[in-house]
Amino acid sequence: MAAAWQDVVRDAAAMRDAAAVAVDAALLAGGLMRTREQPHASDVVNYAPFTLLPSAVPRDLFEQAYAVQQDFNLLVDAISQNKEFLEQILASTIKVDDFTARLYQIYMQVLEEGLAQTVFLGINRSDYMFDCKLDGTAALRQIEINTIAASFGGLTSRTADVHKLVLKVLGKTEEASRLLSNNPGKRLALGIAKAWELYGSQRAVVMFLVEEVQRNIFDQRCVENELWNRNIRVIRRRFRDVFEQGSLDASRRLYMDGQEVAVVYYRDGYVPQSYNQQNWEARLLLERSRAVKCPNVATQLAGTKKVQQELSRPGTLEKLLPGRPEAIARIRATFAGLYSLDEGEEGDRIAATAIANPDRFVLKPQREGGGNNLYGEELREVLEKIKDSPERTSYILMDKIKPQPALNYLLRAHSPLQVSECVSELGIFGVYVRQGQELVLNQAAGHLLRTKAIEHADGGVAAGVAVLDTPYLV
Ligand code: ADP
Ligand code: MG
Repeated sequence: MAAAWQDVVRDAAAMRDAAAVAVDAALLAGGLMRTREQPHASDVVNYAPFTLLPSAVPRDLFEQAYAVQQDFNLLVDAISQNKEFLEQILASTIKVDDFTARLYQIYMQVLEEGLAQTVFLGINRSDYMFDCKLDGTAALRQIEINTIAASFGGLTSRTADVHKLVLKVLGKTEEASRLLSNNPGKRLALGIAKAWELYGSQRAVVMFLVEEVQRNIFDQRCVENELWNRNIRVIRRRFRDVFEQGSLDASRRLYMDGQEVAVVYYRDGYVPQSYNQQNWEARLLLERSRAVKCPNVATQLAGTKKVQQELSRPGTLEKLLPGRPEAIARIRATFAGLYSLDEGEEGDRIAATAIANPDRFVLKPQREGGGNNLYGEELREVLEKIKDSPERTSYILMDKIKPQPALNYLLRAHSPLQVSECVSELGIFGVYVRQGQELVLNQAAGHLLRTKAIEHADGGVAAGVAVLDTPYLV
């Protein structure tokens, strides 16, 4: 990709001055995180890590990513309603992956009882990297779609103004004026507000289901405060609070210490570590309720890596989105090579290919949150070990995307300023609301650019690897 700031990026003095301005601007703008040392209170906070310079993103690929987002919303929503598909696709995975199996069990139990929920809210983020082709041009390739707890829609709205200021300090006023403003947190809140309204009880609250450790609370507050601005009450509770104080009435309305809950917005619950026996019971209680879950367990399952891999099989999208050939073409154009490791000849063959060429692939378990994938030599070793065991089935294989690196500075509290070779990942937020069978809202809701040094194969912002960035369209 075009390196945008070649004239200044090696100018150490200019970069140092700009970094000092940038950090203070980020703090002033509220680009904040709690610290690792004091994650439970807001007495001591620091800035959320970000790049000093905005990163170049090809305009056509940026537009392509926006243009396909409503299609992905439709697709996720369709999968979440397709019991036969989820049953068939996840059959092999749930035999070997306990976490997916637990979620699946709740899914089945809720379906058997019959859904009390009639309004559905999806907030997702489809993530992409720019694969460098042989001719030097780049192609948009989906990394994954996050259907639960997709974060940084709030904080990312703070970075564009910081980058505008940095560019001005560097004498690039014209370029500064071209940076797009972007506020996904606000659009996500509008989706939550719509679901709340359709639920139809003025007194009911929106419950953010949050983690025990809430370092990223300010990102959530951005969304929360937008709801308060619309006079919608928000409460924050953990699974253990739900276990202790949550209840359902006869028509399965959800109550938390006496308050009716209209919408449950999960910012936890996507990793096995979120759950002990009590928390699983709390999750079941929430899923059985009439409250709008964002996402419900079916939609969470629609976001598994296994489902992603099966979507790339010829004919699958056609079954899920009948009569929508254009949407299917847009979706498929973003797919990288994805391969099943299920037992059988197809899995044997691709496992052997990956063992022989580990640098061509990424090995992914059914996990979220960064830091779980395997690459290179480690991929080879693990695959060698499990290639003849059913455990293989808990992973999928994906072609490794190879973006063109660019120079930038990753600003992190307590870290020295140094230039790094970096690659970026673009996320597009999507939000949709469905009432019964009628889709009442379906939108792309803004973007998130995250950038990391090339030394790190894996990991997001919360994992401490990537930092917030702003796209500079070229
Ligand atoms: P998670 O659910 O843990 O976020 P991802 O599929 O998003 O899992 O992978 C985590 C990170 O690993 C991504 O943010 C990206 O940096 C890297 N990654 C994932 N898939 C690929 C790929 N196919 N090629 C190159 N890097 C990848
Ligand atoms: Mg990811």
